[in-house]
Amino acid sequence: MSNPRTSSGLPNQLFIDGRFVDAADGDTLASINPHDNSVLVDVAMAGAVDVDRAVAAAHRAFPAWRNLPAAERGRILLKAADLIESQAEELARVESLDTGHPIRDSRLIDVPRTAMTFRYFAGMADKVQGDQIPVDAGFLNYTLREPLGVVGQVVPWNFPLMFTGWKLAPALAAGNCVVMKPAELTPLSSLLIAALLAEAGIPAGVVNVLPGLGTVAGQAIAEHPGIAKISFTGSTATGRRIVQASAGNLKKVQLELGGKGANIVFEDADLTAAVNGAAFASFHNQGQACIAGSRLVLHESIADAFLEKFIALARSIRLGNPLDPDTEMGPLTSALHRDRVLGYVEIALSQGGELLSGGRSPRGELAAGCYVEPTVVRAASWRDRIAQEEVFGPFVTVLTFRNDEEALEIANGTEYGLGGGLWTRDLQRAHRFARELHSGMVWVNCYKRVNPASPFGGNGMSGYGREMGFEVMREYTQVKSVWINVDAKIPPHYPR
Ligand code: NAD
Repeated sequence: MSNPRTSSGLPNQLFIDGRFVDAADGDTLASINPHDNSVLVDVAMAGAVDVDRAVAAAHRAFPAWRNLPAAERGRILLKAADLIESQAEELARVESLDTGHPIRDSRLIDVPRTAMTFRYFAGMADKVQGDQIPVDAGFLNYTLREPLGVVGQVVPWNFPLMFTGWKLAPALAAGNCVVMKPAELTPLSSLLIAALLAEAGIPAGVVNVLPGLGTVAGQAIAEHPGIAKISFTGSTATGRRIVQASAGNLKKVQLELGGKGANIVFEDADLTAAVNGAAFASFHNQGQACIAGSRLVLHESIADAFLEKFIALARSIRLGNPLDPDTEMGPLTSALHRDRVLGYVEIALSQGGELLSGGRSPRGELAAGCYVEPTVVRAASWRDRIAQEEVFGPFVTVLTFRNDEEALEIANGTEYGLGGGLWTRDLQRAHRFARELHSGMVWVNCYKRVNPASPFGGNGMSGYGREMGFEVMREYTQVKSVWINVDAKIPPHYPR
């Protein structure tokens, strides 16, 4: 395999059929450092021809990969996890440069959790099995759980390294080949993972990683007749486009879209724990998380006490260069997105909202980057835009309620249904809300917990299908029912 790195140590080519190559038409796109908007590296940008090449390579690789003993696929994924750990510091550095994640998050969360995901699905590879089904006398009926073939995966820019692991590891464990498109803003860590997988022994063509524009390479993947399934994480608007594009060959589709998570704090909550949890829920990764607790729903009796502590904590968060180990919050991933997030402050004020903290970019040495201060805004109504639309930044909307019924009405009052949480000491209320919340995930006295063993995904406009756990293996396999005549006497077809 050719060296994937430029002199700056950053990858800059497409990964197709086990090799790093330029795009067929030579197109490139600059990957930008959101800390200061400087160019990190010009990266090859795939077009439809490159997608065709990758799909063809994946089809050539598929028969041997699916027929490899499952435990052997698992062994390769285990090796990949080891290699990710051995390259942890480099992966963390590149992820922080490309996305703006504080290096301490990249070191403590993104990289170790990516290794953990590969390890979990390495163990899953030889545990995916069919059933033997009791049917009519004389027949043996069993199911085979088979890989789908070539699957397409489209990754967003908010957690590119972790989501590359979430998508690749289960698809490969199940015996599929993959054509993946990272987001145009953040392609670097996915390319490094492709190189590590090749080093771990993944055969050429099994994994292909093609940076490129969503409307070009992404659209080509979604439309491609040679791709059996598409797994997408990103905005609801793009998810809808993918469903339309996938109709041609009736692809299986799995969508992990936006969210507007309600984080409900009841009057009996442990306030200190709830304040800390709410800060993590709303500001971790600069709030660029589909499961962010971006609606803070407070019982009116504790709202003032809670907000006093919460705002003090928000103001104490250290913004800075992502590569500084003391930095707690980095820049947003692009200037366009920073401006979009700041636009929501205007929207809030225009609808009678009250800015309680933040709401601007910091001055001084961070002014050249894509930074936004942790922002807390009180909405006039839970029907207002800042309480309904995904802002996807360090922007939390405060709402208050008087009783459980009102809390539930607010929490369920959006088109989304991804994650939601509550803080209470009341066991019955906790279980009741866990059942009643319209969301794919519920956290009680915690928020934003994820684990490769636990299903992840949403309902409504947050999408469908699940990542992780046993659930995702269903997404990446199909069932075949096999009938064997063991000793049944077959009656004549037509009565005589
Ligand atoms: P997006 O949905 O446009 O981009 C996500 C991915 O989809 C990228 O890889 C992009 O290249 C690709 N894509 C775009 N158009 C495509 C198409 N027609 N076919 C196939 N792939 C396509 O998201 P964005 O514009 O980068 O961000 C906008 C908003 O989306 C954010 O502000 C946020 O609200 C939401 N978002 C959510 C998540 C999430 O984790 N659920 C991630 C990123 C963005």
